Amino acid sequence: MDSFEKIASLAKRRGFVYPGSEIYGGLAGTWDYGPLGVELKRNLKNEFWRSMVQLHENIVGLDAAIVMHPKVWEASGHLESFSDPLVECKKCHSRFRTDEIGISNFQFPISKEIKCAKCGASDWTEPKRFNLMVETYLGVVEGEKTKTYLRGEITQGVHVNFKNVMDSTRVKLPFGVAQIGKAFRNEITPGGFTFRSREFEQMELQYYVRPDLKQSMETFEYWKKERMDWYVSLGMKKENLRFKEHAKDELAHYALAAFDIEYSTEGEWKEMEGVHHRGDWDLKRHQEFSKEDMTYFDEETKERYLPYIIETSGGVDRAALFFLIDAYTEEKIPNSKFQIPNNSEIQNSNNENGTPDARIVLKLHPRLAPYKVAVFPLLANKPELVKVAKKINDDLKKDFMVAWDDRGNIGKRYRAQDEAGTPFCITVDFDSLENNDVTIRNRDTMQQERVKIADLKAYLAEKLE
Ligand code: ATP
Repeated sequence: MDSFEKIASLAKRRGFVYPGSEIYGGLAGTWDYGPLGVELKRNLKNEFWRSMVQLHENIVGLDAAIVMHPKVWEASGHLESFSDPLVECKKCHSRFRTDEIGISNFQFPISKEIKCAKCGASDWTEPKRFNLMVETYLGVVEGEKTKTYLRGEITQGVHVNFKNVMDSTRVKLPFGVAQIGKAFRNEITPGGFTFRSREFEQMELQYYVRPDLKQSMETFEYWKKERMDWYVSLGMKKENLRFKEHAKDELAHYALAAFDIEYSTEGEWKEMEGVHHRGDWDLKRHQEFSKEDMTYFDEETKERYLPYIIETSGGVDRAALFFLIDAYTEEKIPNSKFQIPNNSEIQNSNNENGTPDARIVLKLHPRLAPYKVAVFPLLANKPELVKVAKKINDDLKKDFMVAWDDRGNIGKRYRAQDEAGTPFCITVDFDSLENNDVTIRNRDTMQQERVKIADLKAYLAEKLE
């Protein structure tokens, strides 16, 4: 099984991600986040917001509408150019992006060596453009409905509000606007689990600077580094990350520079986030199409100009997926007689005590982990243990996401929390009743220590920072 399949299987089994509309046979390119997945995503988005809006005095937030005036998409160029060239196999009618079959955009005829991955034939249509924008209609009266689009990127919601933000806040150049929200694309070939979906979430910064090429490139370098450091600070392994510069022929026509932050899995580098120098393209186009003045008046220099824009544009779902892949670890438990044969047998291999001998553990950064701590009474049928454990649970949940489990033996409960990525497990046993302390077990080291009940909050707060 490759890493995408392993994560998809764990995600479904443990409630991170389910296929969208599954009981109706699914809807390609859509996914539903389950109880663990929604926590992971919320944590990711909170970390993004904290690093951008909370920690930078000159960055503010925004939440623009998903459905915008159709003119926005004319101005942004999406209706004209937001399209992938694709070819169709004449035999089985499967469609592929030209880059998927390894030809350049409009190359035709297509070499006979290139075969259809579905049916093996080698008879192709000429490449054609296919627009990725998802159409929708607003209004109540048939025939008078307005055709518009679900946004293909969250970016434009920020730029159309450039004046509003300036007029309603005290921001001065350079300043940024951060936004997190859903975007929709009619992807021709959704796949790779959540990697390429038709509905997904983006987290972005649009940073406005003076239109000075040299200075703006310095700002570009600053944000490149910030964004890469952000992934590393949340535990992503450095060796799995790199920058990939867009070659001249890959650059959007308006872009002055662009780098992707890529993640490596299964020996392949995949885009996770883009850092783009957009020049003054967006503001210029909105000024042209809306006839509104989008210029900035610089109090210091008494100049009026259209600022340049540096953008960081990441996918929340892609980041969540790559954090899961990065954290996913299969481990044999020391001193056990069993080898880890493969993913499924790990689940089934038990020693003579009925305890699994190997484990799957998600070594997620504690700030991203869905639950920070799990609380167990050693035995569910001993009311005195349950009472103390419940009290600890109720006390801790005011500050942390806490999981409760009183089923099966402790070994199995540890395994279940390992798979959910819970950094700490607390067990209340008979000694707890005498000594007012509990066992805390560390997810990664599997070491256990005794901690006083009264010190639990401080202990966790320190470890989770
Ligand atoms: P790709 O080349 O993979 O299609 P892109 O270059 O079109 O991506 P951008 O338009 O720069 O992507 O979007 C910024 C980010 O949004 C991407 O880096 C990615 O994390 C995320 N993203 C884009 N398209 C999708 C999608 N279909 N599903 C999930 N995330 C996506």
